[in-house]
Amino acid sequence: MRPIHELYTKLSEPRKIAITMHQKPDADAMGSTLGLYHFLVQFGHEVQVISPTNWARWLDWMPNVNKVLDYELHKTKADEFLESADWLFCLDFNHFGRTKLLAPKLAELNCTKILIDHHQEPDVQSFTFGVSSTGKSSTCEMVFDFIVQSGHRDKINIFISECLYAGVVADTGSFRFSSTHASVHHMVASLKELGLQHTKVHEALYDNFLENRLRFLGHVLSNRMEVIYELNTAVIYITKADLLKYNIKTGDTEGIVNYPQSIQGIKLVGFVVDRDEERKWSFRSKGNFDCNTFARKYFGGGGHFNAAGGQDKESLEKTIQKFKQAIRENKELLQ
Ligand code: 5GP
Ligand code: MN
Repeated sequence: MRPIHELYTKLSEPRKIAITMHQKPDADAMGSTLGLYHFLVQFGHEVQVISPTNWARWLDWMPNVNKVLDYELHKTKADEFLESADWLFCLDFNHFGRTKLLAPKLAELNCTKILIDHHQEPDVQSFTFGVSSTGKSSTCEMVFDFIVQSGHRDKINIFISECLYAGVVADTGSFRFSSTHASVHHMVASLKELGLQHTKVHEALYDNFLENRLRFLGHVLSNRMEVIYELNTAVIYITKADLLKYNIKTGDTEGIVNYPQSIQGIKLVGFVVDRDEERKWSFRSKGNFDCNTFARKYFGGGGHFNAAGGQDKESLEKTIQKFKQAIRENKELLQ
């Protein structure tokens, strides 16, 4: 993978450009791809954003999200675009496997492939150009750097500002995680000077659920959370029946994993949802517990040091037992 700055002089010649992200995109994935979209269209490029799957409805306020292709619904159209694209940008994921059904297609393309990502252990062989930096708060911050470092700060408009701000807010836990370096605040200051209304973005992201989601949260915290004090760990599980009863849609479970972190002394939270295809895990830690390694070792996943995810084909009951066994094996790190 060659350094991304080698692309800067190639930006002005119009091309066909596809931009994609990880499955079930969050605010950083959708914000960074759309932020990059609003930058690239200003050069006259033909740009198409493709999501491997559907996304949460609280991302639907993002400018031009209605033009994003959901690969599961528009495979033929997306394949056609991809097959004739000159460039493919891959944002907010570290290997094609994170794009579900889209993965084999991305792997077979012969175009120039560009990675912009902040996850651990990127598959650098798959990309022509790129930047991978685990020290960065978010992929949105990296897209901001890409725009500024390529000499096009003047192209940052209100659409770009809103999209990039959303990803930064989400991935820094509203500026509280240790990844919130001074560069993040400098970036936000620049966006504010350009007219960003930050409260509008916070409300769009966090005050945009339906009543059922709040009732669901109450149920989950009361009935589906177990605290294992001797290992400073909490686990939350969501059953299929819960998902049906509360009419839970993509994105409604986002953020619930963070609640047990507010209990004194909790170092690790495991959160599992009994999805049709698999049991989907999320892990969050504080301090020196490495979620990336944990998710990779026990649940075929990965991510960041303090936030990672994984999956399991076993039943909900069995995967919870597996989690409990795994934390016992890691008791030195947790106690
Ligand atoms: P979440 O728990 O919010 O789904 O994910 C936490 C972080 O880990 C995100 O940055 C996400 O992209 C990453 N992540 C989630 N699941 C997986 C996975 O299965 N594999 C890898 N490599 N990363 C994941
Ligand atoms: Mn991210």
